[in-house]
Amino acid sequence: MPRPITAVIHTQALRQNLEVVRKSVPTSQVFAVVKANAYGHGIERVYESFKSADGFALLDIEEAKRLRALGWTGPILLLEGIFSPQDLFDCVQYQLSFTVHNEQQVEWVQQHIYPAQFDIFLKMNSGMNRLGFKPQQYFKTWQHLKRLNSVAKITHMMHFSDADGDRLGQTGIDYQLAEFEVMLQGLAGERSVCNSAAILRYKAHVQSDVVRAGIMLYGSSPDYPKHSIQDWGLAPTMSLRSEIIAIQQLNPNESVGYGSNFIAEQPIKVGIVACGYADGYQRISPTGTPILVNGIRTRTIGRVSMDMLAVDLTPVPNAELGSEVVLWGKSSTGIVLAIDDVAAASGTVGYELMCGVTARVNFKSQE
Ligand SMILES: *Cc1c(COP(=O)(O)O)cnc(C)c1O
Repeated sequence: MPRPITAVIHTQALRQNLEVVRKSVPTSQVFAVVKANAYGHGIERVYESFKSADGFALLDIEEAKRLRALGWTGPILLLEGIFSPQDLFDCVQYQLSFTVHNEQQVEWVQQHIYPAQFDIFLKMNSGMNRLGFKPQQYFKTWQHLKRLNSVAKITHMMHFSDADGDRLGQTGIDYQLAEFEVMLQGLAGERSVCNSAAILRYKAHVQSDVVRAGIMLYGSSPDYPKHSIQDWGLAPTMSLRSEIIAIQQLNPNESVGYGSNFIAEQPIKVGIVACGYADGYQRISPTGTPILVNGIRTRTIGRVSMDMLAVDLTPVPNAELGSEVVLWGKSSTGIVLAIDDVAAASGTVGYELMCGVTARVNFKSQE
């Protein structure tokens, strides 16, 4: 038997979450973001549920090829664009759309002398200051690309830094939207603006002909704890489950695990779970991180080790060897422990947990 730890991917929940995107922005084209191997879920495992999307967005050409191998013939957008002039041959062969965000990429496109009909998403740096052209250079670059015979279409693109919250006493999007809107006044072309947070929070305020939905598709709330997945109508898509493989009875002043950083104050029954940081559970998760045993919410105690962690079985008197443990997601009886709850307790976000599940964990798909 393999170790009992399993990541269950819920295909029905993936479809439900895509439906939430559709209903939020009914007139937009929806690109499903499947970078980082579909946020750790596996591109092949999410494909059937997402193939009613209008496009896919990701970073690696190798992942794009996997989508083509699955039979996807629609748009695929490379969110960081090309990393070498040779990549343009793949863009032609596999019909990949790509972001252009720096001068070097413009040069590579210009110097590509072979037949091509590039579909470009030209990125404006409207204030996030990671990728893109400052508004002053944006217009010049757009004009320049538009004149090239190899460029068939240019979509105006930008990315929000704070769509999930406020910034300097304003909504988190106003400072960037103002730059973007002023610059684009009178320019032809579609726009691609919204990520999950903007789709959910600003659907009425932002014109985004193409939206790029990521985290919401995977059952994590982009603005947790302000809103939970229940608030947004989203369902968990990944359940990390394992089992109790040992039970210990601690007396007062006894400890569990490395570093003895949990000391029992009173007698306590402790379950040892087959899950550790080598499975992708964060070592930094402190005593008190929520966890389910037999569908009952309890807490981790002591330090997470490579292959194991410990749970407080006080609220679960019937727990025994083999009892189901849910690290995040849904129990087999349907009880939900939102990945956002676990992430918040660990000082991180759902994105990092779902991307971090390691190769030694078995995956299985379920309706
Ligand atoms: C990852 C990414 C997204 C998706 O963001 P979510 O917060 O996961 O919805 C959208 N646009 C770009 C450019 C990205 O890199």
